[in-house]
Amino acid sequence: MHVDALKKELRDRRWRMTPQREQILKVFIETNSEHLGAEEVYRYLLNKRINVSKATVYRTVDLLVELGFLRRLQFDEGVYRYELVDKQNKHSHFICNSCGKIYELKNELSPEFVMKEYIDLLNGNGYIVEEFDIKFRGICPKCSEKQLKKHRKSK
Ligand SMILES: [Zn+2]
Ligand SMILES: [Zn+2]
Repeated sequence: MHVDALKKELRDRRWRMTPQREQILKVFIETNSEHLGAEEVYRYLLNKRINVSKATVYRTVDLLVELGFLRRLQFDEGVYRYELVDKQNKHSHFICNSCGKIYELKNELSPEFVMKEYIDLLNGNGYIVEEFDIKFRGICPKCSEKQLKKHRKSK
């Protein structure tokens, strides 16, 4: 999504794109929608000498979640991370317990397809599912290969 497209969407929804909201969305575009925490967004802006208070950043990311531009993710207890909502590009996440890297699973099975039965079941039981996340934790391919090599050497 481009800044122009974002601006248009904000206009369409009668929300003014304030410079601050725009700056913060730009951070996500420039970093290719890395899974940034509010603290990291704040530091990024600081590095670029953009003057914005920490409180504003925290408030604005949450506002952008409410407005549907960012998705809030929680990989670790007590830490929220955010990424651009890209409707064309739904993906699940895999978090490596060894190196901490967050992988986006984009080319695997579509989560909608995999979860269809579960969602149908919930809907049938009176729950209205509006969204869901799939989060995997484990050892990533790079780390498992490293572990394997270490293991071979020690033999
Ligand atoms: Zn790893
Ligand atoms: Zn992601």
